[in-house]
Amino acid sequence: MLTKIWKDPVWSKVIAVAIITITGGAITYFAGLLPKIKAFSLALWGFFITKTPIYNWLIIILIIPLTLLLIVFVSHIVSSVKGKGKFLNSNDYTSDNFDTLKWIWKYGSDGYIYEVVSLCPKCDYQIIPKFANAYHAAPQYEFKCDECGYNGGFCEGEYEEYEQKIKLKIQKNLRTKEWEKRVIAQQ
Ligand SMILES: [Zn+2]
Repeated sequence: MLTKIWKDPVWSKVIAVAIITITGGAITYFAGLLPKIKAFSLALWGFFITKTPIYNWLIIILIIPLTLLLIVFVSHIVSSVKGKGKFLNSNDYTSDNFDTLKWIWKYGSDGYIYEVVSLCPKCDYQIIPKFANAYHAAPQYEFKCDECGYNGGFCEGEYEEYEQKIKLKIQKNLRTKEWEKRVIAQQ
């Protein structure tokens, strides 16, 4: 419909004239306002740079509310910093350092701990345990960071058992409320 009107020779001319008239009118209108805008800006600038003698009592009266405002503002910041641990939820406890490594995990809807992952405590790169010694009586896994070369040592026995121990440590911290201190320490 619109393209049809636009392509129509008569209509397109009418629209073009209308656009030119409106634009021209707008330009003239704003150009007329220019001196007023300039005068207003100058007056405003003049107000800013003009010195005014003020009674000292007026200054004191103005300073009092400003000081009170500043005190309220500062105390608000202090209390918000102090109260950081107040509204912590145990679900916020999703990382901690155990043994030589940093561990992160997730919680399921039933509170079940899953996706326990070991990270490099120096650079946060994920450390995937490598099977180290097949000839040893018990299997050994090495925790070495491929990114920065950090060596987290070995774990003896099956990795699943080691991961289970980490889960038990997390659960213990949740039970004993130790997690709160750990989360605050990490902040
Ligand atoms: Zn690393």
